[in-house]
Amino acid sequence: MKPNALWHSKNKMPKNATTQQRIKWHLAHQRNCGCREIPEKLKEEIKKRETKN
Ligand SMILES: [Zn+2]
Repeated sequence: MKPNALWHSKNKMPKNATTQQRIKWHLAHQRNCGCREIPEKLKEEIKKRETKN
């Protein structure tokens, strides 16, 4: 899949992003672009957070 360069230029990952910020970024990224998969570790974090709510 082609990277969505426009989305990336508008949605830069902060340098010292928190886990929460990274999760938000990756979920938005997944919807708008598919150039990268969500890292396994982050997927685990997302699952943990989902079960909490
Ligand atoms: Zn992308």
